[in-house]
Amino acid sequence: MTMTGDANAPTPPAGGSFWWTTGDPGPARLPARGRQSVDVAIVGGGFTGLWAAIALLDTDPRLRVAVLEAERVGWGASGRNGGFCEASLTHGLSNGLLHYPGEIDLLEAEGRRNLAELVAFVAAEGIDAELEATGQLLVASQPHEVDELHRYAEESAAHGGEVEFLDRDAVQALQPSPRWLGGARSSGRHCVMVNPAKLAWGLAAAAERRGARVFERSRVTALARRAGGVTVRVDGGGVLEADRVLVATSAYSGWLRRLDPLFVPVYDYVLMTEPLTAEQRASIGWGDRFGMSDSGNQFHYFRLSADDRILWGGYDAIYHPGSRVVPAHDRRPETFAVLERNFAATFPQLDGVRFTHRWGGAIDTTTRFCATFGDTLGGRVHYALGYTGLGVGASRWAAGILRDKVLRPQSELLRLRFVQSAPLPIPPEPVRAPVVAMMRDAVIGADASGGRRGLFLRAMDALGVGFDS
Ligand SMILES: Cc1cc2nc3c(=O)[nH]c(=O)nc-3n(C[C@H](O)[C@H](O)[C@H](O)COP(=O)(O)OP(=O)(O)OC[C@H]3O[C@@H](n4cnc5c(N)ncnc54)[C@H](O)[C@@H]3O)c2cc1C
Repeated sequence: MTMTGDANAPTPPAGGSFWWTTGDPGPARLPARGRQSVDVAIVGGGFTGLWAAIALLDTDPRLRVAVLEAERVGWGASGRNGGFCEASLTHGLSNGLLHYPGEIDLLEAEGRRNLAELVAFVAAEGIDAELEATGQLLVASQPHEVDELHRYAEESAAHGGEVEFLDRDAVQALQPSPRWLGGARSSGRHCVMVNPAKLAWGLAAAAERRGARVFERSRVTALARRAGGVTVRVDGGGVLEADRVLVATSAYSGWLRRLDPLFVPVYDYVLMTEPLTAEQRASIGWGDRFGMSDSGNQFHYFRLSADDRILWGGYDAIYHPGSRVVPAHDRRPETFAVLERNFAATFPQLDGVRFTHRWGGAIDTTTRFCATFGDTLGGRVHYALGYTGLGVGASRWAAGILRDKVLRPQSELLRLRFVQSAPLPIPPEPVRAPVVAMMRDAVIGADASGGRRGLFLRAMDALGVGFDS
């Protein structure tokens, strides 16, 4: 494998995300200036904030809705991710069964409904998000993972899913690699692939068509309760008087102290190859273009882009002490080198292929791996965050919950334990960094010992606490 580019070069837009080079985000929208009054102010212009604007205005077109984005729309995780848009709202069925056994069938059905509606919306709005309803192939590279995938296929069938277990030969026929021992394949009802930056830009335009005002370069610095509403202060002097505020800032939520115990920002890194030649493309099978993921605690996710590059991401989940989220962390040469090595072991037939893009971004990890919802400032500020690396699809559903909090307080969905309960809080520093390091070491240790979970992990399992990305 050959390294290209200077790892120390200044950080390009959205951390260097390949997706930001595939289209034009257009000229920057104006920042919020002066004093204005709105019904709902949404902080954050990623998927959660943009879907929330759309959901609000589709429910009540008269609402005055403003989206305040600190950078550009899609600048955060929404414009940098792998583009796996999954139906699961619970970071997978097994995790959902662990935490919400009584609600899992409803949550699975809601997730499938949400994905179908998302796909229909993208088509109806003419958003060129390079959406491909490919489904996904999970692959095992250790014997115990084969058993886990077998169980997953059975579990899925018992909960209305469509996942087929595949033995080694069947997987090798689909995507030959010396690493694969078995797999589980899901349909396009479970997972579709998107170009996430184009999706975010398309959602912003769709929100504006409905009357939302989207402000860029508008960092919210403070929220303050006032009689009958909330005062929203924006860097640069803008002030919005809002009836309600929705906070949709994901792993960048450090600005709102109340959210600090709910999540840790964990960095996830991605490589993108150059477009494959016809010969390289033929050497890897993958005719159905499904998204792929291997199955360790430290796992890779990988997929083809519209122009037949391979995106290869994941594996290392890096926490920076103090929960620091800064552009300097968007690039990590040590992790890029690990990812390149693992890519070479997976695709020996692609020896010599070059990587043209390397980037990273912060994931909002919670102790139970899925979104958490809540209210603050006298019930006028609502938040949703904590997708733990699986928010492309789930953010749309979460945005519906935020809409319900504002417009449909009687909604049955608001009563779900999934919506009402909070994950176990994460201790503050200086305890946080060593706890995260212990969890990380323990899950890496489990991968290295055939999936056996040591005493510490078993104790954490009993508490329902995990570490993932
Ligand atoms: C490298 C990587 C790969 C991933 N891969 C996948 C995947 O394949 N599939 C999947 O389902 N999920 C994936 N995820 C997770 C997924 O991208 C996120 O869960 C999802 O995009 C979250 O959307 P969001 O709108 O909540 O947050 P974001 O997209 O992060 O948006 C938050 C926005 O808030 C803005 N902001 C922050 N502070 C302020 C402020 N004070 N004022 C105003 N604006 C502010 C930020 O600039 C940002 O644009 C991945 C994430 C990363 C980082």
